[in-house]
Amino acid sequence: MSQFDLTRAVKPATGPVIKRILVRCPSTGKLAPTGKTVEESAWDTTKLNRPRLTCPHCHQVHNWTKKDVVLAR
Ligand SMILES: [Zn+2]
Repeated sequence: MSQFDLTRAVKPATGPVIKRILVRCPSTGKLAPTGKTVEESAWDTTKLNRPRLTCPHCHQVHNWTKKDVVLAR
C-alpha cells in the first residue's frame, strides 16, 4: 500500500466565520440562544422575518430585531 499520499494541498486555516445568534433578554438582561447561526460576513445583509424567541430565562416570548442581537462563537 502506498504511503506517498502526503503531498495533498493543506486546507487554508481561514474559512467562513459562523456565529451563533444570541438575544439579550429584556427582563433579565441575560443572553438567550436563538438556535440560529449566521455567517459573520453575511450578517449585515441578513434579513430577519419577524423573529421570535421563547426565552429560557423568563419563559416569555420575545420579539427581537438585529439591534438586540449579540453574535457569539
Ligand atoms: Zn426573557
